[in-house]
Amino acid sequence: MTADLHTHTTASDGSLTPAQLRAEACAAGISLLAITDHDTTAAMRALERPDDGRLTIIPGVEFSTRWQRQGVHIVGLNIDSASSVMHSACATQSEARDDRALAIAERLEKHGIDDSYAGARAYAAGGAIGRPHFARYLVSIGAVATPAQAFKKFLGGAGDAGGIGHWPSMATAVEWIRDAGGTPVLAHPAKYRLTRSRLGALASAFRDAGGGAIEVISGQQKVEVTTQIADLARRYKFAASTGSDFHEPGRPWAALGRLEPLPGDLTPVWDTW
Ligand code: AMP
Ligand code: MN
Ligand code: MN
Ligand code: MN
Repeated sequence: MTADLHTHTTASDGSLTPAQLRAEACAAGISLLAITDHDTTAAMRALERPDDGRLTIIPGVEFSTRWQRQGVHIVGLNIDSASSVMHSACATQSEARDDRALAIAERLEKHGIDDSYAGARAYAAGGAIGRPHFARYLVSIGAVATPAQAFKKFLGGAGDAGGIGHWPSMATAVEWIRDAGGTPVLAHPAKYRLTRSRLGALASAFRDAGGGAIEVISGQQKVEVTTQIADLARRYKFAASTGSDFHEPGRPWAALGRLEPLPGDLTPVWDTW
């Protein structure tokens, strides 16, 4: 079975429509695909008939949250995307994204950059607005040469230019996902660049909040990272998830379905469904 349980579409900051993503996933030989847009489940509504023969689509979401002073992404897998709890959670997050976008635009104005809110909104094209849309606007006006530079110079890099104060606590997002019948997954644990002991504390807090799985494989990653995260899965008895965090073609480190296998002793998250 080829699974990819972390992907984005035009409903958030991905470049493919839900239907295009499904077609690409089929072409890549994926049999289990989760669509996990940032703070929205709109992609599932866009797909009239989610499954396409050989491919099963799992409804998902990726919530922006905070734990202590750290921004943390929590993926929800196998959720009831039509549930009232998901509906209101995504509405809350949409408002938070909008408030944060205004805060980012205000910051940019202080740098002499005007109209970035409208510019980013246009790039979001009705989807969940995020920093990548600001990055594209900043490139379009020539303020920076690449989106990566926009993140570095204006959008807070690994931090968050809008401030993580806009996001709900990690525990709140875990509860939303549980209430919607899904499995809460700690996304891309290595991306937070935490020390070993602080990452352990995060995993422990996630477990205590009701977390169920951890992304042992997140795109192309070093063997040492896989070893470290697999150890966390064993220590805190998490099921194991795997996902590319696909956003657009042309990123070899996050290509659809290009994932090393999960360590054989771990329980794949789909075995718990
Ligand atoms: P947001 O959800 O608005 O906080 O934006 C976070 C998203 O920005 C991530 O999911 C990535 O898609 C993208 N991103 C984060 N860091 C970078 C970077 N350095 N360069 C380009 N894109 C990035
Ligand atoms: Mn993204
Ligand atoms: Mn993420
Ligand atoms: Mn993601």
